[in-house]
Amino acid sequence: MKVFITGGAGFIGSHLAGYLLEQGKQVFVLDDLSTGAIENIVHLKGNPAFHYQIDSIMNIPAAAELVDRCDIVYHLAAAVGVRLIVESPVRTIETNIRGTEIILDLANKKKKKVIVTSTSEVYGKSSKVPFTETDDLVLGSTDKGRWSYACSKAIDEFLALAYWREKRLPVVVVRLFNTVGPRQTGQYGMVLPNFVRQALSGEPITVFGNGLQSRCFSHVADIVRALNDLSQQSQAVGQVFNIGSDEEVTILQLAERVKSACRSSSEIKMIPYEKAYGSGFEDMQRRVPDISKVRQLIGYRPTYNLDQIIASVVEHERSLLR
Ligand code: UDP
Repeated sequence: MKVFITGGAGFIGSHLAGYLLEQGKQVFVLDDLSTGAIENIVHLKGNPAFHYQIDSIMNIPAAAELVDRCDIVYHLAAAVGVRLIVESPVRTIETNIRGTEIILDLANKKKKKVIVTSTSEVYGKSSKVPFTETDDLVLGSTDKGRWSYACSKAIDEFLALAYWREKRLPVVVVRLFNTVGPRQTGQYGMVLPNFVRQALSGEPITVFGNGLQSRCFSHVADIVRALNDLSQQSQAVGQVFNIGSDEEVTILQLAERVKSACRSSSEIKMIPYEKAYGSGFEDMQRRVPDISKVRQLIGYRPTYNLDQIIASVVEHERSLLR
């Protein structure tokens, strides 16, 4: 079995590549290293079943060749991270929409199954708890750049489902909730690697807003296993699935737990959103997935709790300091 991972040098993509190699697959990766990094895949390079190409999914001939060679496509290439979205909105919108159009169009020519990774961000600022796949999406106004990410991913979902309905291209859409773990970069805003680095270096741990906003964090190892399991289920085709954890934590509690896991003396410092992301920024207050659908189909249950997740990120970040 040959698998093609777009964005395979990214944080989640590289973990997926490693996992699928362990499952005995031939793995082909295309990544332009825009937010991915070669260090994410160095440990895979010696494996004869691992192949990678540094290029953009916008390079249609390169993407077409890999779609043709492989049996299934995991489409993870995307512009991600709240900071990137706020700072480079054109890139976010274009990469996410155009890139997905290209991959779906190419896959459709050979009717190759595509696993499209979307995001919990599409639920927007809805205050519903938990979020279920068929819930309304509640996005903010277009003058608030953050929502362009949710909107671009919602278009990707519409397009993928349209390819299934209209052209019978087998697609599975997965909405990933906050996914964390070793190798995630803090460069684009992601909270956990930032907190761990701050705690280990004794710098202030920067909590944005009042810290009462909450999230549910999943370990990337649980997520990539679920992506593989879903890809093998014919009943998943044409469907949308939340994948995440239902262990909710406020960002302030997360800061305290990271501080204690690192035995750090860092102060926990509140930073107003305007200072962190510029004026007019809107955050989500709570983001909890209903994971009953994915549980029913593939028996999905997170195997890492938050303490174990924090410990694995701390261990990784410590190893980088050695
Ligand atoms: N956050 C924070 N400090 C940071 C980075 C992020 O307090 O250094 C907050 C952010 O405002 C959000 C939460 O942590 O409320 C999760 O942010 P992240 O960017 O990791 O993911 P999001 O859920 O916003 O996509």
